[in-house]
This record gives sequence, structure tokens and C-alpha cells, in this order.
Amino acid sequence: MERLTLNSFVNIIVNMKTVLQIKLLPDETQHAALKDTMRVFNEACNHIAEVAFREQCASKFVLQKLVYDEVRKRFGLSAQLTIRAIAKVVEAYKRDKSKPCFFKPTGAVVYDQRILSFKGLEAASILTLQGRLSIAMQMGDYQRLQFGRGHGQADLVRVDGVFYLLLVIETPTAPPIDPNGFIGVDLGIVQIASDSDGGSFSGEAVENVRRRYHTLRKDLQSCGSRSARRHLQRIRRNEARFRRNQNHVISKKLVEKAKDTERGIALENLRYIRERTTVRKPDRAKHSGWSFFQLQSFIEYKAKLNGIPVQYVDPRHTSRQCAACGHTEKANRKTQSRFQCVSCGHVANADKNAAMNIAARANVN
Ligand SMILES: [Zn+2]
Repeated sequence: MERLTLNSFVNIIVNMKTVLQIKLLPDETQHAALKDTMRVFNEACNHIAEVAFREQCASKFVLQKLVYDEVRKRFGLSAQLTIRAIAKVVEAYKRDKSKPCFFKPTGAVVYDQRILSFKGLEAASILTLQGRLSIAMQMGDYQRLQFGRGHGQADLVRVDGVFYLLLVIETPTAPPIDPNGFIGVDLGIVQIASDSDGGSFSGEAVENVRRRYHTLRKDLQSCGSRSARRHLQRIRRNEARFRRNQNHVISKKLVEKAKDTERGIALENLRYIRERTTVRKPDRAKHSGWSFFQLQSFIEYKAKLNGIPVQYVDPRHTSRQCAACGHTEKANRKTQSRFQCVSCGHVANADKNAAMNIAARANVN
């Protein structure tokens, strides 16, 4: 998802595409209008999808001739929303021509500059079945800063009854640095992330939240009512949001450290995770794998924006190997936190030792 532009000298400027999620604050009437528009837009998409499938047609131009007038009349969609619906169907149909595509009533509505515009940072002017509505937006500092990079193309989505605009923005990345070695990052539960300098991010807060939600979830699951189910959904969302925030904080600090010391970042290739047999294995299973993937992907994109190289290494035996002499034996790992080499006597914090091995493996490459 990146565009390369070569400038006249040696620097390569890469624009990275990221998505800005902007919360809309519609009043009651506006909320109903957005909901209606979304439902009808997707109904129209389903109708167009049937025609596309029946006619085996993946051409926007041809499909438009076939359905445009009918869709406008039958669904009351504006000209531009009809065009967007056709485009959405063509895109989906091209991906899978084996059956008519189906769109949920809450599927995204695609907006472009003709039907969506912004009034500063305060409001979006959005075309609905009730005409154009000026709807208040809620933005944080980061979003305000990045907002200008959007191109007026956005998806309107609805998540748990809340409407958002997903705005694609292009952020220029820094030219890659020539690193002075690597910072190794070891992932775990007791310490979510430990680096090869001895820095670490405790998993305690995350673990506490997880445990609290786990108990709550059990209580609610045994209950089984509709409100319990809804409550469960909210809990899952809160837990995910908490982890996401945590991952943002950790990745930001690690990338800042790498930038300050002009080093690259070495990460574990998580594909090997299942092959690992360390004392942390039961812990790892407990933690869902996706949050490690999420942390790594946050590190990777923040590193990219700052020109910091990221390398993935084979993490096998990193927790049993001595970072000082290279001797690898299970007995080196004395406890969860303590490493003592049976060959050379090197003593270290076990996570730091593992992170140093990860850094060393990146240096070799
Ligand atoms: Zn040793």
C-alpha cells in the first residue's frame, strides 16, 4: 500500500497510506438519515451485484448503462452515490466472480469529494437520502494534525451504532537510516516487551485487565440473556481497546529509542512461535497471538515513518542461548526471570538475554 516517488537525488521519499478514523456526532435526525442511506446504499449494491453476476459484467462502464437509471429511480439514490455503488460492486465482483456478491445493510458507503466535504475540522458535509447534512466530527490531536493529508475520499462505516469516516491519508516517511546495530525486542507476558538494553514494558496492567474481564465474561456467559450478550461485546471491545493503547505506547517508546541511538529494530518472526518450547509457552497461549502481531505491526509502521529499519529473525532457542558465549542449553534458564549460563557463568535477566540474542541475529544478517 505504498507509492514510491524518486526525487532528483538519492533520497527515496515513500508515502505510507494509513487510515484516519473520525468519529461523527450526528443528532438524532442525522443519525437516522445516515442509517437509512447506508441501508439503501447496500440494498442498491445487492441489486447491482445480481445484475453484474447475471450479465457476467465486471465493467463499470457497461454496468452503469445497464443499471444506472433503474437504481436511481428504484432506490432514490443520488447520481454520485449510484456511481459509487456501481464501483463498489465492480470491485467486489472482480475479486470473486463465482457468485453474486452480498453486502450487509451495515456495509461501508463509499464517499468521494463530490458528495463529502469538510467544514474545517469541525464538521463534515455528507450527502444522504435527505440531502446534504452538516454533521459534527470529533477528532483527537493526532487526527487534527493528520487531517489535511486526506484527499476527500472516505468510507462511512457504522460500528456498534456509532458512525465513523475512514479517511485514507498519505504520510511521508523518513529516508531509511544506515543503522549502528539493532535493538532486539523479546515478546512475553510477564514483560510484554523487553529490549536488549534491559528496558522492559510490564504486562502486569494488561494481565490485570485481562483477568478482570475474564471473570466478568464467565459470569455473563452463564447468564446468556440478550443484555448479557451485549455487555459481553462491550467488554471485548474495551479489552481490545486497552491492548491497542498499550501497544501504541510501547511501540512509540521503542521506535523513539531506536531513533535516538540510530539503531534498527530486530523482532521475532512469530511464525516460529508454535515451535518454541520455553517456560513461557503456556503464558503465550493464554495471551492471544494477535496482540503480539498488532504490537509488531505498530512497531513496523512507526519505524518506517522514522526511517528505522526493522528486521525479523528466527527466535528459536533465544531464551536458552547464552548471549555472552553462545552456549545453548535448557538448564541455562534458571527461572522465569533469571538466566545463568552453565558453560561460562554469565548471569542476566532472562528477557534481556533473549532480546540480546535477537539483536545479535539481526546484526549477522
Ligand atoms: Zn555462556
